[in-house]
Amino acid sequence: MIPVVKGTRDILPDEALRWQYVESALRRLLELYGYKEVRTPLIEREQLFAKGTGESTDIVQKEMYNFTDKSGERVTLRPEATPSMVRAFVEHNLGQVMLVPKLYSFGPMFRYERPQKGRYRQFHQLDVEVFGVSDPAIDAEILEMAWTLVCELVPSRAELVVNSVGCKSCRPMFSSALLESLGDRVSELCGDCQRRSKINPLRIFDCKVPRDQPIIDALPHSIDYLCKDCRVHFDAVLSQISDYDIPHRLSHRLVRGLDYYTRTTFEVLIEGMGAQNAVLGGGRYDGLVRHLGGPDCPGIGFAVGLERLVNTLAERVAISNPPAVFLVAIGDDARLVMLTLIRELRQAGFSTQMDYDARSLKTQMKRADRSGAPCVLILGSDELARNEITVREMRTGNQRSISKTALLEYLGEALPEWTGKSESNGLVQE
Ligand code: AMP
Repeated sequence: MIPVVKGTRDILPDEALRWQYVESALRRLLELYGYKEVRTPLIEREQLFAKGTGESTDIVQKEMYNFTDKSGERVTLRPEATPSMVRAFVEHNLGQVMLVPKLYSFGPMFRYERPQKGRYRQFHQLDVEVFGVSDPAIDAEILEMAWTLVCELVPSRAELVVNSVGCKSCRPMFSSALLESLGDRVSELCGDCQRRSKINPLRIFDCKVPRDQPIIDALPHSIDYLCKDCRVHFDAVLSQISDYDIPHRLSHRLVRGLDYYTRTTFEVLIEGMGAQNAVLGGGRYDGLVRHLGGPDCPGIGFAVGLERLVNTLAERVAISNPPAVFLVAIGDDARLVMLTLIRELRQAGFSTQMDYDARSLKTQMKRADRSGAPCVLILGSDELARNEITVREMRTGNQRSISKTALLEYLGEALPEWTGKSESNGLVQE
């Protein structure tokens, strides 16, 4: 047996149902806020991430799956979605085509990280981006949506954390203040931080090395260095999310690991998820579209880690999708009739299963029970002779004979009540 690649995993049928449940809940919300789906390739030119995600980031420095293809081109399995979304936005001129470009995308990302619970080398994100709006109203709407989306799936355990990292005019002052405050102590920090201090000192706040923490805790805070415009913007965002009644915590350490963020940054954390407790992260990136060769166009967005969302859901809800109908046939003649009937049932929209191996009635009934189908149709020689079929409601054990011609209509009326399926996603929450 050749096992899966380290850090990747199979999503098996029971878990896949939870994914479907989460994805359909997310799509429903995205619809409400006016987002449109985009699907970009999993491979992009390496340069897109080197430039877009940023040379100083851990992603570009250590984690990308880069290779040279047969034509000699350097390509990368995408480690995050934002640069791809920006590329697609610019390449297809979506700023002209769409009224408000509000875009989303689902799919796998690849990062060569050290695998652990909640951290994989192939993982999935929902990515959400809005282009062309600089007003704080969109920051607040995005925060409100991010919060609503996590709370809908993980009620009462989420925490929204917010910060502002300033813009290209005030951020250099903050970077200098950081370096000044660090002074000689920079040599006491870990190797990563020493490197960060040279390329992007803000990223020192991402450090998790315990020995570095007392030094980092004493550093200045970005919000004390915001220029007037950034301050006004951030105050408007905070005031709006307070009006929305969204509980939030300010954290000066939230600079996030990517180079392109400006102004608002945020994360949603989930209590009790251990070290990998961030389920969603994002921020504003007003210079990125231009940096990647597009127009001078602001942007803001976030990414949700779907594994982490599905894992938290798994602790609370069991979800199944049993067939609506299970067919049981006794004898060869009945079995032939069943094979036609199963097609008719499916054509009428009833999910249907049967036991293909034509075992005894007892075994077929056991399998019918295990399938979880609320309704079992039984066809033997008696029924054949009368051109009828026995319909059994599994929950109550009630049985009745129905003429074959009236069957579809009868099931159409009875099944919605027997299945308890929610119409929105076709899944049964147990
Ligand atoms: P990022 O793109 O790093 O801002 O991450 C956004 C979200 O994606 C995080 O909050 C996590 O939920 C998820 N995420 C990031 N990296 C991984 C990973 N290696 N494995 C699983 N989920 C991840």
